[in-house]
Amino acid sequence: MTAGPRLGIFGGSFDPPHLAHVALARAAVEQLGLAMLRVLPTGQAWHKARALTGAEHRLAMAREAFAAVPQAVVDDRELRRSGPTYTIDTLRELRAEHPQAQLLLVVGADQAEALHTWRDSAGILQLATLAVAARARPDAGAPPFDTSRLPPGAWTAVELPPMPVSATEIRTRVAAGQGIGHLVPPGVARYIDLHSLYRTTG
Ligand code: ATP
Repeated sequence: MTAGPRLGIFGGSFDPPHLAHVALARAAVEQLGLAMLRVLPTGQAWHKARALTGAEHRLAMAREAFAAVPQAVVDDRELRRSGPTYTIDTLRELRAEHPQAQLLLVVGADQAEALHTWRDSAGILQLATLAVAARARPDAGAPPFDTSRLPPGAWTAVELPPMPVSATEIRTRVAAGQGIGHLVPPGVARYIDLHSLYRTTG
């Protein structure tokens, strides 16, 4: 790996972004010494069957949520790409734009464990080091994550207190008329309310 500035890359559907996403972004910036963290809402993620909320809403909510992290820059390139989103394409673009930078791909443990199913996972690991945060399951603490499929040296840990929150839970709560103020930043809660998002499940 080159010894240039460290550039973090944090992708997600962010439908909606929540407090664990922001905590993970902040922890990654601090622990990895990132000069910049590019936050990339995904286009039609190939591995998520559910139709995502419109790109303009997810982009606006991501801007609200990550404004709290000074090094975070929300990057809409995957939303502008037609067809399915592949992380390898984004990494190649960022490598070309930042030839000196060390690229660190920030993911929760669930995504790290599934990496071998992503398009060109070997290429991903050649371009970037994985930075992995444990992810709590709602009914348990954070289990140690399974690193057996990752080559040694391909990943580093980001320490994050277990936060058993998911976007799925937030959508379900809104549809059931339950509060989400403890799960998302205030600006995101206001946005969801203003635009009547997630009122129906699906
Ligand atoms: P959904 O419930 O719709 O599947 P999600 O809450 O998993 O959504 P994503 O936008 O898919 O949110 O996640 C983006 C990234 O953030 C992924 O790498 C995911 O592993 C990580 N992440 C999400 N929630 C947590 C959490 N509670 N703790 C640690 N990492 C998380």
